[in-house]
Amino acid sequence: MSTTPTTESPFHYLEDGLAQLKRDGLYRRLRELGGAQLPLARFDGRDVINLSSNNYLGLTTHPKLKEAAIDAVKRLGVGSGSVRTIAGTLELHMELERRIAAFKKTEASVVFQSGFAANAGTVASLLGKGDLIISDELNHASIIDGARLSRAEIRVFPHRDVEGLERILDETRDVKRRLVITDGVFSMDGDIAPMREIVALARKHGAIMMVDDAHASGVLGRAGRGSVDHFELHGLVDVQVGTLSKAIGVLGGYVCGSRTLIEFLYHRARPFLFSTSHPPAVAAACLAAFDVLEQEPERIERLWANTRRFKEGLKRLGFDTGLSETPITPVIVGDAELAMRFSDRAFERGVFAQGIGFPTVAKGKARLRTIVTATHTEADLDRALTILGDAGRELGVIR
Ligand SMILES: *Cc1c(COP(=O)(O)O)cnc(C)c1O
Repeated sequence: MSTTPTTESPFHYLEDGLAQLKRDGLYRRLRELGGAQLPLARFDGRDVINLSSNNYLGLTTHPKLKEAAIDAVKRLGVGSGSVRTIAGTLELHMELERRIAAFKKTEASVVFQSGFAANAGTVASLLGKGDLIISDELNHASIIDGARLSRAEIRVFPHRDVEGLERILDETRDVKRRLVITDGVFSMDGDIAPMREIVALARKHGAIMMVDDAHASGVLGRAGRGSVDHFELHGLVDVQVGTLSKAIGVLGGYVCGSRTLIEFLYHRARPFLFSTSHPPAVAAACLAAFDVLEQEPERIERLWANTRRFKEGLKRLGFDTGLSETPITPVIVGDAELAMRFSDRAFERGVFAQGIGFPTVAKGKARLRTIVTATHTEADLDRALTILGDAGRELGVIR
């Protein structure tokens, strides 16, 4: 038998997959940010109006956050050195968890390395074989992955469809443990979950209620407390997830709820147990961000004023912005290849609005995803509208 080493790559199927993405217009290069994440930023060497970050309040570069991070590095170094459950729980982590719980008005909170880890780790540890997870069809990938890892059964209800949810709850009365889960604000459409109705149904049926507020925290509710505060549902939502990576401007995720829930997650959430905790600078910068949220409410006001101005402008130009009610405003194009061309054309003219296609959104629903921030000026937004309008007309997206 020949033992000649083969030079044949085992990755032909990956090459084929990439070629298919190119044919479908879904292949993309990563744009490189040179410099800071700002409303006017330099991507791929070009100065553009940045409508693609989740930096809602401009906190990624806030002087108080930077100062807190630098001070933490000087005092405590750059790494935590361990997982939370062994030697990696810093006093700063505990302070941050107390701070978040107070902010969200819950008994306790636990911080994870990312929002993804918070969702996946929590869903997978709360539910198991024989249980049922009932999930909105547009919920975030981290919820879907957590649901799969849990080995519970999964039922999906149509997007924001309260009657569809009720039907599933009625049909599954005999299942002992059920979780109803929804995003508070949907990350690609910018619409808001009908939380009052969903929470009422979950409670009526004795199901656990969980909300992922990644895009609602820092945006909705008093001082950005999220969808539970926005809809005045304090005490009625069992599990609230948030992220520290979006409006908070740093990195991480958290879960808020009862002391019992949090203690259970300390013992069972696998990303908490098996992955190293945040470095001191991250925890310190997050703490400073919660100070800023309370001290500078005008940031949230500016975010919403900018949101209204930009949305009205897009509608006036004739763009389809879907059902968005928040700073996330999709410009729906339909065809993926056209969406990518539109995004590229706008970029060449000075606007960065990422084109998004399948699998992040459904086939035929490709779009540019725009997010304005508190730190864009009106002039920035008006200029972006002019550029998007011109590019949209040239490509036939609008007339
Ligand atoms: C971004 C996002 C997450 C993940 O948060 P990260 O902190 O970036 O890991 C979770 N859920 C939703 C709805 C998101 O949009």
